[in-house]
Amino acid sequence: MVIDAHLHLNPEVDGTAIGAANELSRQMKDAGITNAIVLQLQFQPWSIEEVAIALSPHSNIRAFVNLHPDEEDVFSKLEYSIKHLNYVGLKLHPRLQEFDLGSASCARLVKKAGELNIPVLIDAFPDGTHLMQGFSPLTYAKLAAECFDTRIIWAHMGGHYVLDFMMLAKRLPNVYMDCSYSLLYYLNSPTVKNMVYAMKSMKMDRIFYGSDYPDREIKESLDLSCKVLREEGITESELSKLLYNNANIFFNQTK
Ligand SMILES: [Zn+2]
Repeated sequence: MVIDAHLHLNPEVDGTAIGAANELSRQMKDAGITNAIVLQLQFQPWSIEEVAIALSPHSNIRAFVNLHPDEEDVFSKLEYSIKHLNYVGLKLHPRLQEFDLGSASCARLVKKAGELNIPVLIDAFPDGTHLMQGFSPLTYAKLAAECFDTRIIWAHMGGHYVLDFMMLAKRLPNVYMDCSYSLLYYLNSPTVKNMVYAMKSMKMDRIFYGSDYPDREIKESLDLSCKVLREEGITESELSKLLYNNANIFFNQTK
């Protein structure tokens, strides 16, 4: 049993959200993925309603809604998405959405998510653009400390800042991470060893698997990730925590 806790709809399938959702479901079956969390994205060509409708026939796929902290009526949009469109979390992408993760409006929105008892996934991949925007692990940590009642997922484990993110996560019990994208992006580099070190150091707790599809096909990502992790000494029981148990508990948990 495997949960893919970080993927997206692919706009290239046939251009429709329904076509993208069906293709996602097909690839999940092919890869043996039992459940998945789709992250809706504002820059994709569909509304939050279209994505919700496209995913509604697939009971094993849930979604996080992507909102901008400074957009008008953001609190009511979040509530509407959770209560009426069946979204189960909030996705924030400070790099692509170009907002300041340290701003008061961002903290207010993340706190609001905690009040609604939904988790917030924040992109934490330090590519060149993000670094030039002032990417800093400290901004992530300060936000998580301020919003201690909100469960927060740092996506991509902070990339090559993984050791900093790990040290911070150890002081922040409301923080979780996913290993999507980074594990395969940094293939054959010391960052992979650091990621595995961080996983083991955290006793394989609070870390989820994700493919970040459509960056890679779902099965290719799963097979390659498992191969790399086994080669780096991750045991089968550690692997099952990463691939299933941690996410299963997290996504079925109510406060
Ligand atoms: Zn992603």
